[in-house]
Amino acid sequence: MIRRDFTFQLDEQMIFSYTGGSIEKRLRDPANRSILEHVHAYFQELVDPLVVWNRFPIKALIHDKVILQSGHKIGNGPVGEVVTGAHELVLAVCTVGPGLEQKSRTLMQGEEFLEGIILDGVASWAVDDLRCRFYAGMMDQLQEESGYRCSTYLSPGESEWSMNDQRIIFDLLESEIPPDSVSLTESNVMVPFKSLSMGFGIGPDPMGSEGESNCDRCTMRDVCRYRVLRAV
Ligand code: SF4
Repeated sequence: MIRRDFTFQLDEQMIFSYTGGSIEKRLRDPANRSILEHVHAYFQELVDPLVVWNRFPIKALIHDKVILQSGHKIGNGPVGEVVTGAHELVLAVCTVGPGLEQKSRTLMQGEEFLEGIILDGVASWAVDDLRCRFYAGMMDQLQEESGYRCSTYLSPGESEWSMNDQRIIFDLLESEIPPDSVSLTESNVMVPFKSLSMGFGIGPDPMGSEGESNCDRCTMRDVCRYRVLRAV
């Protein structure tokens, strides 16, 4: 299944908070007002959100691994503990498209280095925001439709959950991913780069973890200054 109906609220305070330090100081100078205006314009023109997702019935949980009815085995680290109690696993791939990162690269190679850096940061924020909005929308929808609960969501690579499982997520969603939209390299890097994958458990029964942020299990949580800016 596919969702593209996302809009983004790109506010200046968020940009200031993301950039911080000397860049924030420069951006607050009225003489540099045009930088923010350009970044806004590029963002609105080039952002191209896409979420490809589906639900996969769970057959069993063995330690930290989820065994799907399809026979696929997925998960390690906190995955098994977080989705304990789930009847199904929702897996998704999220991207904001190639346009933002291509533009930021071009700007950084030219004379608008600062605009390029800021646009790159905004693109990173946008794909995370996309993930949070998709998850929040799914929680509301599943609760309303069937009284289902959702576990905390996780993404490969952010906790102890291995990046290698992105291969399994792509295999499971392969038939639904539009051609030329998002792909995985042999070394499991997503293209476009401003993309991520995620998973969470769903079902009528209590889960091992509900209502946490994925930040709570992220290996970067003690040093990350972006945690406070997250949407969920
Ligand atoms: S702690 Fe930072 S890096 Fe980790 S998931 Fe949260 S925002 Fe992302």
